[in-house]
Amino acid sequence: MEFVFLNGEIIERSKAKVDVEDRGYQFGDGVYEVIRIYNGKMFTLDEHLRRFVKSAESIGISIPFTSVQLSEMLKELLIKNNLETGNIYMQVTRGIAPRNHVFPTGNVVPTLVAYTIKGVRPLESLKSGVKAILTEDIRWLRCDIKSLNLLGNLLAKQKASEAGCFEAIQHRGNDVTEGSSSNIFIVKNGTVITHESNNLILKGITKDVILDLCLANNIPVEERTFSLTELNDAEEVFLSSTTSEVMPIIEVNGKKMGRGVPGPITRKLQGLFEREIEKQCGLLVDKLI
Ligand code: PMP
Repeated sequence: MEFVFLNGEIIERSKAKVDVEDRGYQFGDGVYEVIRIYNGKMFTLDEHLRRFVKSAESIGISIPFTSVQLSEMLKELLIKNNLETGNIYMQVTRGIAPRNHVFPTGNVVPTLVAYTIKGVRPLESLKSGVKAILTEDIRWLRCDIKSLNLLGNLLAKQKASEAGCFEAIQHRGNDVTEGSSSNIFIVKNGTVITHESNNLILKGITKDVILDLCLANNIPVEERTFSLTELNDAEEVFLSSTTSEVMPIIEVNGKKMGRGVPGPITRKLQGLFEREIEKQCGLLVDKLI
């Protein structure tokens, strides 16, 4: 039997229902997080909880649980579902109210849901790398909020999928922003470059782990906007996300990136990332490096 966490209770998944007037269902009026689980333990849990609260606050939703309560409930859910490797998906919406664009007043309680998803590490892709396409970034100007509204991201990812690619690298004019569900990095003259965390991208938790690893291991980094030309000429390209970790990109729009295989700095970061996982969650059975 599988369990979900709904508004403070752990219940059977089949009993968890969404009201037709839940604002998440009708407007995408809410925010979410995805947390990676290795060896039954949550990786970078505090960072995810902080971003969850921040995203919610930025749209005026006050989560009716403290971070400590949330983390206890998520731990309980993991145990109940016996999850070893996979993800926790968690979302909060503004709650249930008669349909109206204006926020409801009175004591409307936010709806908070979390459930688990089994899933192994994508070792094959991490080894060989993936392909990407380029697409204009047509999203709104608050991509720093991890909003349930993902239509722009979905359209981009679908385009990539139809082209037989893993990811769509988005750009605003000549400036590369981020992937449809990942942050994008290039390596130029040995320096790792990625878009600064502002309103145009999501401040990825994986991105921040990678930046810290670079600093701790004397790998030069720059957080700044980079152009399509710089992407095109890059020595190495990779993406980062909770579920894809440090994923090499070996081809963009049919053109090989660098030598067309995962580059040395990407490989080094993959190894450092695995060590970071092991520090927080214990030894990995399925290792890449
Ligand atoms: N950008 C977007 C648009 C995303 O959906 C994601 C995945 N959550 C990321 C970046 C990477 O963020 P994280 O490393 O926190 O998963």
